[in-house]
Amino acid sequence: MAHHRLGAVQAPTIRVDKASPLVLIGLFILAVGTTGHHVSPHFTDAADSVLRVAEPALQELVENAAMQTVAQAAANVQELASSVVTAEPEHVTRIVELGAGRTFARMLIDAAISGEDAFAVSSALGKVFDHRKLKAGQEVALSITRQGNSETLTALTFEPEATKEISIQRQKDGSYLATLHAMPIERKRLAAQGEIRGSLYGAGEKAGVPRAIMAAMLRAYAHEIDFQRDIRAGDRFEVLYDQPSARNGTPVGQGVIIYAALILRGKVIPLYRVTFGDGSVDYFDEKGRSIKRSLLRTPVEGARVSSSFGVRRHPILGYSKMHQGTDFAAPMGTPIFAAGSGTVEAAKFNGSYGRYVKIRHNSRTATAYAHMSRFASDIKPGARVNQGDVIGYVGTSGRSTGPHLHYEVLIDGRQANPMTISMPVGRVLDGATFKQFKQGQEKIKKEFAALLQKNDDTAKEKLAAPTLEEPPASIKVVSR
Ligand SMILES: [Zn+2]
Repeated sequence: MAHHRLGAVQAPTIRVDKASPLVLIGLFILAVGTTGHHVSPHFTDAADSVLRVAEPALQELVENAAMQTVAQAAANVQELASSVVTAEPEHVTRIVELGAGRTFARMLIDAAISGEDAFAVSSALGKVFDHRKLKAGQEVALSITRQGNSETLTALTFEPEATKEISIQRQKDGSYLATLHAMPIERKRLAAQGEIRGSLYGAGEKAGVPRAIMAAMLRAYAHEIDFQRDIRAGDRFEVLYDQPSARNGTPVGQGVIIYAALILRGKVIPLYRVTFGDGSVDYFDEKGRSIKRSLLRTPVEGARVSSSFGVRRHPILGYSKMHQGTDFAAPMGTPIFAAGSGTVEAAKFNGSYGRYVKIRHNSRTATAYAHMSRFASDIKPGARVNQGDVIGYVGTSGRSTGPHLHYEVLIDGRQANPMTISMPVGRVLDGATFKQFKQGQEKIKKEFAALLQKNDDTAKEKLAAPTLEEPPASIKVVSR
């Protein structure tokens, strides 16, 4: 080490006379050269001594015209020596990373922090943050003060979570104090779209949409779409959402869907978030019907129940039998409506059921319609239908005594009584409320298009102006 060599030139052990200033200067230059910027306190002492002892000799040298260059060198040495003597503490920042299986203290010790300080810092940290929540790969910025060859950890900062910043400061008494700061959260309006290949989650991930948003979308559509069966290659999704985010862009907490759409085989199935005057929130399709609407109990116009669900004497077979549906007597050719939105699972001649249509609304619920005279055009397996769409016409095909609709609700594949099953009752927007809703739709569609354009403009990256302090946006209507 350099200061071992310097030890030999410390004042008490050096004897100089007038003839030897050059030797001293040489030693001094050697000392400076070999210690580089790691200047020890010993060295500054030595520099002092050198100057003190050498000064009269240097003076004499300056007076000697023949020794001008040496004098210049001596002046340089003096300048250098005085700058060493008055050296200011140097502040440096060092980024360290928490290795897998390493403790916080160990990380600091590996970064050349003294064991005493490392454990003091670790203990201070424990008072504001659970060490077990630290993750390998965590980056920590160390502020170090260097004076001479000694280093002191004066502060450190890191962000253990997207919304948390911890700073630990060295106090005057040498102890450490840790402070946990909450980072500001911004609300960001974001738009995304994508093709659904495989799962909706996968499509969302590819488009950079948080998983929680895709989960909310799945829940919102669960009333009418069976994601296992209804999604085909080329189907797409769109979503406009409000996402609380940390300063670094990391999503924080649950975002809110403002608008979403599934485009299944070219058919757009949108939903819009609506906030009512009383603060309640619900999602509606573009016609203003709550997506949580129930199945129609009477899926045929102007019909009367001619035979209800339950045990009855069969009109043709003549013995008592469980009637698995509800019969509605109606004139031949009366339109039959889809009781709920969903996908046509069957449209075929089905034995005693005659012309039969089955619509799947979600993974648990389906409805079936029998004895039709004919199917509506477009009603084929895989077709999307909305609640109220005409799917066929009353007839008497199959085992039937006269024109009627035999209607079944199937829950988990078993017939249930459509008159008694409990279904969520959905709201329908009408009148002035519907007008406001339609205007809101236009605004949201424009915003979605503008945000998508922004995404394109920034090389497909999501981009949105933060809307601080604003509540999640949605269409606001005055009454319910
Ligand atoms: Zn029947």
